[in-house]
Amino acid sequence: MLDHLTYTAPEPKVIAGAKGDWELVIGLEVHAQVASNAKLFSGASTTFGAEPNSNVSFVDAAMPGMLPVINEFCVAQAVRTGLGLKAAINLFSAFDRKNYFYPDLPQGYQISQLYHPIVGEGEIIVDMAPGVARRVRIERIHLEQDAGKSIHDMDPALSFVDLNRTGVALMEIVSRPDIRGPEEAAAYVAKLRQIMRYLGTCDGNMQNGNLRADVNVSVCKPGDYERFMETGDFGVLGTRCEIKNMNSLRFIQAAIDFEARRQIAILEDGGKIVQETRLYDPDRGETRSMRSKEEAHDYRYFPDPDLLPLEIEQAWVDDIAASMPELPDEKKARFVQALGLSEYDAGVLTADVESADFFEAVSAGRDGKQAANWVINELFGRLNKQGVAIGDSPVSAGQLGGVLDLIGSGEISGKMAKDLFEIVWTEGGDPAEIAAARGMKQVTDAGAIEAAVDEIIAANPAQVEKARANPKLAGWFTGQVLKATAGKANPAAVNELVAKKLGL
Ligand code: ADP
Ligand code: MG
Repeated sequence: MLDHLTYTAPEPKVIAGAKGDWELVIGLEVHAQVASNAKLFSGASTTFGAEPNSNVSFVDAAMPGMLPVINEFCVAQAVRTGLGLKAAINLFSAFDRKNYFYPDLPQGYQISQLYHPIVGEGEIIVDMAPGVARRVRIERIHLEQDAGKSIHDMDPALSFVDLNRTGVALMEIVSRPDIRGPEEAAAYVAKLRQIMRYLGTCDGNMQNGNLRADVNVSVCKPGDYERFMETGDFGVLGTRCEIKNMNSLRFIQAAIDFEARRQIAILEDGGKIVQETRLYDPDRGETRSMRSKEEAHDYRYFPDPDLLPLEIEQAWVDDIAASMPELPDEKKARFVQALGLSEYDAGVLTADVESADFFEAVSAGRDGKQAANWVINELFGRLNKQGVAIGDSPVSAGQLGGVLDLIGSGEISGKMAKDLFEIVWTEGGDPAEIAAARGMKQVTDAGAIEAAVDEIIAANPAQVEKARANPKLAGWFTGQVLKATAGKANPAAVNELVAKKLGL
């Protein structure tokens, strides 16, 4: 199905420094909150915006003697995500404790999967423009717990802790350092979000922090990356800095751009990049050092003794695979191949499942291209202008289909169809009934059109002479006839008749 798409490797953004060209190398660790009603190891609710500390079980609060119990649904969601990224599913995985102190982490450790993640290598095809698709490799996805939230800006003297988020399931999706520029990084996150929304495994809400990315950035000289790809030697690449917790596609791009230029300036000045964690300040448009990079041994990872290794069966994975929805790449390819849509239109229509479903309901049994035009230009255009979501569209797929049927049967002209769409949008109702009630019917009766053409020709002899000398002027007659028939005559039919009558 995807044969017509040719993927290229990501393309390096080149930044000209004072002493020559530099290239960017980027790897992303995306934290995606698993769409699940309950937490990863407890039955507490995950509802966003609940009263602080109301969704906290004894397990989440790390009361002595409490034991975690794995939530099967969260595991299935991670497997589903892995399958959506064409990744290897590991039938054996295990949970480790990552130890650190934080006021919003009552356990004193985070349960994660360092050594044996549930999902192995996969890929994401990142769409840059129609016909331009790039392949970014996925290294792994592991399941882990989220921490709580410390609130420092509610009181001048006190900090507060909200544990509602503590223990919520996250998928950490780690890319290879295959991303080569700010635009690719944003497009990668957008595509990942789109796939997870199709799968229903993460709602992708970045404002709420349900999808956030740690962005690793380094710079190197042309040729270095190719050597890295040949040898797998990270030493060939520059030292990376990691920008933590980015939750906006726009800021991700701005932060990468700033960070790359900062590193280039240091290197060209003869300095060295220190591997560290940095934060992006959107107000000042810069990244700032947060802490120097901690090493894995600082966390004293060890297998969580409260949890058995996670062993799943291939048959269970196969069941999940069998229930997978059609994903954006496949859907887009089908729209292009089976319905003859342009890549661009197919991309717009498959941006989210609701739009794609709406389009399919309109196009079923009708002309695909015409349906695409109407859905994109008239419907989406209008929805965007008024800030209405497709789910709340005042015009249903059935109603829009009804308008298209009236065009298809020749009953109404394209112009009338737009008026009819407007009426359906504002007043609702059945398009065929509205058209009948308001006399919206284009005159296809040849006799009536002919009479109108004859009348106009007879009344304007001078204009007839001019048109015979210069056939381009025949359009004037068509205009007059359309006016006389109040726009109900079919323009193409009128054109043809005018030319015949004038002997052109
Ligand atoms: P850690 O948890 O220590 O940050 P991970 O291996 O989980 O380490 O993630 C490292 C991320 O950084 C991956 O996405 C990887 O592709 C990326 N990365 C590694 N080396 C570089 C580099 N030199 N430049 C840019 N990104 C890099
Ligand atoms: Mg990291």
